[in-house]
Amino acid sequence: MSVRVGKTATAPAFPVAAKKAMQDDQLRRNVHHATSVIRGKRELRVAEMPDWQRLRDAGHAIKDHTLLYLDHYLEMFERNCERAGGKVHWARDADEANAIAIQLIQRYGGTEAGGIEAIKVKTMTSDEVQMNPALEAAGIHPYETDLADMIVQMGEDQPSHIVVPALHKNRHQIREIFIKKMELDSLGDQPADLADAARVYLREKFLRVKIGISGANYAIAETGAVCVVESEGNGRMCLTMPDVLITLIGIEKVIPTFRDLDTFLQLLPRSATGERMNPYNSLWTGVHPGDGPQAFHVILLDNGRTELLENERERETLDCIRCGACLNACPVYRETGGHAYGSIYSGPIGAILSPQLQSMEHSRSLPYASSLCGACYEVCPVKINIPETLIHLRGRVVRENQETFLGSIAPENLGMQLAAHLFTHPDEYEMAQSLAAIGQKPLMRGDLIGPLPGLLGGWTKFRDLAPIPSQSFRDWWKSREKQQHKEAR
Ligand code: SF4
Repeated sequence: MSVRVGKTATAPAFPVAAKKAMQDDQLRRNVHHATSVIRGKRELRVAEMPDWQRLRDAGHAIKDHTLLYLDHYLEMFERNCERAGGKVHWARDADEANAIAIQLIQRYGGTEAGGIEAIKVKTMTSDEVQMNPALEAAGIHPYETDLADMIVQMGEDQPSHIVVPALHKNRHQIREIFIKKMELDSLGDQPADLADAARVYLREKFLRVKIGISGANYAIAETGAVCVVESEGNGRMCLTMPDVLITLIGIEKVIPTFRDLDTFLQLLPRSATGERMNPYNSLWTGVHPGDGPQAFHVILLDNGRTELLENERERETLDCIRCGACLNACPVYRETGGHAYGSIYSGPIGAILSPQLQSMEHSRSLPYASSLCGACYEVCPVKINIPETLIHLRGRVVRENQETFLGSIAPENLGMQLAAHLFTHPDEYEMAQSLAAIGQKPLMRGDLIGPLPGLLGGWTKFRDLAPIPSQSFRDWWKSREKQQHKEAR
């Protein structure tokens, strides 16, 4: 697969990648099954919360407030984190984030070629900056320890879902990957067999590797604490067993107070995995002698986020708490899976986040990867209006196209400009309507317009087009009035 997320690399446009994905029946079966199970669990858990809508409002309000005063809360987090013994680093983009991580790992782990290892957990942000290839290029071996991320890494694959990165694989496929990469003679394909194999493999890494890299769900400004929620416990091992912990966080993950966690720890697990609460909620503040990592570094990543703060519609995208509910609800994602989006952020949130964070050519097709049915808005625990943002971004793509020479003379653009002119000039509109009613006759197939030639064929390929009536509404209204007048006399 050619999906790569970086500064210059790009992926195929969504329609091309989606078409290919839809030919993979196994992938579609896996995605349908997994998303249906998670959706069912989410519905149950949401239904038992009488104050769910108020919780959603509260989540939205906290995020909105935080983003308005983001500089204030980030500096507060930095102060409190460092007061507790942590060290905060600021990264403007992917290159800076990777350079900081590599420097830190080399400082603590040495620089002997091929000698340094790191264990990683819950860090989608590190996928955003393509940290694994950067570490490997610097001679550092990263091991993913979240089960799904480990499957993706071992399968030399890409994540396809923001909560369940290996959602596109079934357990038979996972068994094949484990046998090959763990060099096993045999392995059952029951969930317990796979979990046992993963446990043995990971335990050795947890006990041996001295540097951990994590993401975080929240960074609490008031206390300088960092929070990771997860279901497996691998995260907690990765956060507590190494000597050094490096945490990479997007700047939008900061929340003002410890109390705000109350809202998100209810919204996130119910929306993400249909659990009342995550089995493991880990919070840590700085370093503590003799307990856990003795060096703690936080890298705060911008990577395009501050640009989103300027525009209210775009800013809302940063409210996302990465629950994945919009993916599971989206009829487009459920048909194509996540790889078609060409980014680690897939589904409806990927369709608005990737075009705003990444200046890649394929991102221009993503705002169109939606039926605008609104299912994503309905389920979003922080009420991000994804459909409106998609329309806003489509407008941006159109305007950018119009600014190029080829875009300005494209038939679609010329057609739209003509339509805009006619809609604001009633007399010309009526004349055009009369002419079109006559001109369409050769294209009629029975009562409908048949397949149109050339570019216009896109309109008629999958739907029937009703013909323009020979009498306009205005003419009909006028003749009706005349008739009534006549009858009244
Ligand atoms: S946009 Fe909303 S539903 Fe989608 S992942 Fe983010 S928080 Fe969850």
